[in-house]
Amino acid sequence: MIPVRYVNFQRFSARYGDELHAVFARFLESGTYSGGPEVGEFEHAFAQYCGTRFAVGVANGLEALELTLRAWRVGPGDEVIVPANTAVQTALAVVHTGARVVLADVEPDTGLLDLAAVEAALTPATRAIVPVHLYGHPVDMEPLRAVATRARVRVLEDAAHAHGARYRGRRCGGLADAAAFSFYPTKNLGAFGDAGCVTTDDAALADELRLLRACGLTTGYRHERLGYTSRLDPLQAALLRWKLAHLDAWNDRRRELAATYRAELAGIPGLIVPAVRPWAEPVWYAFPARVQHGLRDDLARALLEDGIETNVHYRLPVHLQPCFAGQPWHRGDFPVSELRADSLLSLPLDPFHTADEIGRTIAAVRRTMDRLCAGSQAVSLT
Ligand SMILES: *Cc1c(COP(=O)(O)O)cnc(C)c1O
Repeated sequence: MIPVRYVNFQRFSARYGDELHAVFARFLESGTYSGGPEVGEFEHAFAQYCGTRFAVGVANGLEALELTLRAWRVGPGDEVIVPANTAVQTALAVVHTGARVVLADVEPDTGLLDLAAVEAALTPATRAIVPVHLYGHPVDMEPLRAVATRARVRVLEDAAHAHGARYRGRRCGGLADAAAFSFYPTKNLGAFGDAGCVTTDDAALADELRLLRACGLTTGYRHERLGYTSRLDPLQAALLRWKLAHLDAWNDRRRELAATYRAELAGIPGLIVPAVRPWAEPVWYAFPARVQHGLRDDLARALLEDGIETNVHYRLPVHLQPCFAGQPWHRGDFPVSELRADSLLSLPLDPFHTADEIGRTIAAVRRTMDRLCAGSQAVSLT
């Protein structure tokens, strides 16, 4: 049996190699290896796609988050609220500014930032909230923004999983004061290396980010800020602009495969498919199935024996990551995030998986869960 890879970039390269070579040839001919029109053209196209006035390309998603917070003058003495169930980068960006990370737990069925937990975490030192549109499912932004407005704090979307996702018809990236995107290769819109960007309607923020990404350099060799080297390079910009034209079709394909999983895996003992809110149009960066407590790793092992790769997003919640050992967090502080970390398994889902591969995965999940749950009383998951 040919293995089902979690992601398969070789398949992508084989399919689109000719077109990618043409983009690369144009880049070589341009002779512009930093800055130049390609960067501006991609930024313009991506801002238009997100429905924002500006997009500012940067080197990666972590710095998209960090530079935005820095541009807002977030630093020592300030607090920023972040979900406990996210990639480390969301929290890391805050730590790098010198501000304090304040974690909030998430909703049990979606894994998204819990509004009541956010309200409980607000203090007079809170400067910003960073909701994460985890797995490509948008956060309920209207009530969150109402809370933020009342508390006079800014909202920065972490949209690293949500290129093209819609909340009440509007694209993620245009739902708050600013949004940070990663174009890491595995993301829905992925570069061929590292890249990121910030989208916003705020002209002053966009100007400040353009300063910060280029060592604070203005004209005449004057460095006006303690900036970074965090530019989006023109080769990535050119390749990303080519990819952006395909993004909606690829996201549609992800939705098709997710719908198949949701229909075919519903009702399997010991397994629960991800929840979707009525106002959400997710883009399925991942398909994290919840597996009955204690059986997740058995399921992953059995699938791998059948040649099917899976992934775990995320095996450790933020507060249990060793890099944050100095923070005042303990096991038990964010029980929903901990439970999810122990029970989620992301099944293979990208636009280039074939119907046969998804069918094999469904059959293997059903067979394995039937076996693992046989004899034991299936615990209903809530
Ligand atoms: C990937 C990711 C980031 C950061 O992206 P990099 O480009 O890898 O720095 C931030 N937040 C989330 C939720 C991510 O998945």
